[in-house]
Amino acid sequence: MITINENFLELQDSYLFSTIAQKVQAFQEKYPDKKIIKLGIGDVTRPIVPAVLEAMHKAVDELGKEETFRGYGLEQGYEFLREKIAQYDYAKRGVTIQLDEIFVSDGAKCDCGNIGDILGLDNVVAITDPVYPVYLDTNVMAGRSGTYDAISGKYRKMIYLPATAENHFIPDFPKKVPDMIYLCFPNNPTGTTLSKEILKKWVDYARKNHALILFDSAYEAYISEDNVPHTIYEIEGAKEVAIEFRSFSKTAGFTGLRCAYTVVPKELKGYTKDGKEIALNGLWNRRHGTKFNGVSYPVQRAAEAVYSAEGQKQIKENIAYYMNNACLIREGLQSAGYTVYGGINAPYIWLKVPNGVTSWEFFDILLEKANVVGTPGVGFGPSGEGYFRLTSFGTKENTMEAMQRIKNMK
Ligand code: PLP
Repeated sequence: MITINENFLELQDSYLFSTIAQKVQAFQEKYPDKKIIKLGIGDVTRPIVPAVLEAMHKAVDELGKEETFRGYGLEQGYEFLREKIAQYDYAKRGVTIQLDEIFVSDGAKCDCGNIGDILGLDNVVAITDPVYPVYLDTNVMAGRSGTYDAISGKYRKMIYLPATAENHFIPDFPKKVPDMIYLCFPNNPTGTTLSKEILKKWVDYARKNHALILFDSAYEAYISEDNVPHTIYEIEGAKEVAIEFRSFSKTAGFTGLRCAYTVVPKELKGYTKDGKEIALNGLWNRRHGTKFNGVSYPVQRAAEAVYSAEGQKQIKENIAYYMNNACLIREGLQSAGYTVYGGINAPYIWLKVPNGVTSWEFFDILLEKANVVGTPGVGFGPSGEGYFRLTSFGTKENTMEAMQRIKNMK
């Protein structure tokens, strides 16, 4: 008899995006002439830049010739790409990362989820709340979450670190010390981030308590302020306690192409039950090499081209386009009387919904009165209640029109 992984039965169905889609469809059927503007999407919309496309075309052609054909590559990624990552994403910021500490993959989502393979099931896990749901769900699947409590909307064994306006979106250290701590900065969905000083406190906390920080910096390319760390390894001692996840998805429009990487420093140790130190780099190398067969050659050449002078110039234009939208949303909402957060170092704007209204009620109001679609904050965790996420991934024209409609809303 086949038994199943019963942890999957503990997963809560996420109705967030399907409920949004149903509500939008019902509205559109009722009012076919109304033009709906979608500012809920968490996906990029600008096309891949020419320098990247050109490199990929060239690599595709190489695969069609006997003398330049390539089959399997290194599971960890081609050195030409890892060298660029080490040089541009780290050395340029004063951080030394060795090539064998970098693991190229097909997505930060997969890496954030798969990393649990090398970590003990008894570990107590902390996640910030609200947050990108993958950290929670993958730990539920692994059995680290405990059972679900429908009243609080929380899993009993997980530690939730609320990040709300009350604490300026800076999570407090929990009473019970966790073993694994997921930090995502710049944050999805709040668009807020941590200063170097605050991140240092988290690194020091993890060092003191032998905890592991899983640092997701998928939105690093959107950072515009000076005191915001681009990599956790800018913080002294972070290599002893942190794994970093990065992605080309939001940096260079690779959500459809698929390329990301994870850094596991060699200094970073985990422990056996009897307290013996084991390097996590070796474990992840084994896991990656066993369960993953590398990102395709043309996609790795495309990712390499992101670091060329032309590639950098072109991707920065796209990021500037999105961040101009973010600015339009921030200013538009503020002039309409809303309190807004984020949108300065991230493509996400997190707004406080009016008093007495839930985030789902606000969704309905916005859809009906302004024909604008966003994402209710509660979909990202219990502390997201009372907030709402808008993204800057739309067109400038639609973003401007959406703001005008919100201002005119009665
Ligand atoms: N991490 C965060 C915080 C995200 O918001 C997303 C995508 O929305 C990802 C990771 C996924 O990245 P990738 O496309 O590389 O899988």
